[in-house]
Amino acid sequence: YDMQDKIDYVFKVVVIGDSAVGKTQILSRFAKNEFFFDSKSTIGVEFQTKTVIINGKVIKAQIWDTAGQERYRAVTSAYYRGALGAMLVYDITKRQSFDHVVRWVEELRAHADSSIVIMLVGNKGDLVDQRVVPAEDAVEFAEEQGLFFSETSALSGENVESAFLKLLEDINRVV
Ligand code: GDP
Ligand code: MG
Repeated sequence: YDMQDKIDYVFKVVVIGDSAVGKTQILSRFAKNEFFFDSKSTIGVEFQTKTVIINGKVIKAQIWDTAGQERYRAVTSAYYRGALGAMLVYDITKRQSFDHVVRWVEELRAHADSSIVIMLVGNKGDLVDQRVVPAEDAVEFAEEQGLFFSETSALSGENVESAFLKLLEDINRVV
């Protein structure tokens, strides 16, 4: 049968984080199992969807991507409206992108629903030899702030699906 006819829930999820950390590629990897080395031209899509089954429920994830509005405070509150989950992405090879995570959490606390589920994601896990952000730093921050945490690689695909599924499962637990 057509799964589209049987959707139990639509969950809006937003992907946020500094520019060039791999937000668009993580989303393409999850939604279409694609990766583009030069993704400059992939701008323009507002969201992508992927339908998954969690605990017997058919869940359509509607995942929103920023299109170059990653400057501090440039993402509008409309972007966050109705979002049940957030993927907050940094790049394990760019210290600044991790230092800015705290700002993105503040953004979420200011504009998103207080019950939003947040998954902190350290991307570019394939570039281990260029790592500057130890996983322990992120684990500590995530524990302090009550966030989930995962390291991913949009390039290899490692942990991308499991990070999204964990987020969707947790949203599903409370709806
Ligand atoms: P965004 O600005 O956060 O949406 O970042 P993009 O998804 O456009 O990715 C920025 C750049 O990083 C592109 O050149 C991607 O090919 C590259 N990139 C994204 N994810 C990964 C990854 O997991 N590993 C590696 N090595 N490069 C990545
Ligand atoms: Mg992008």
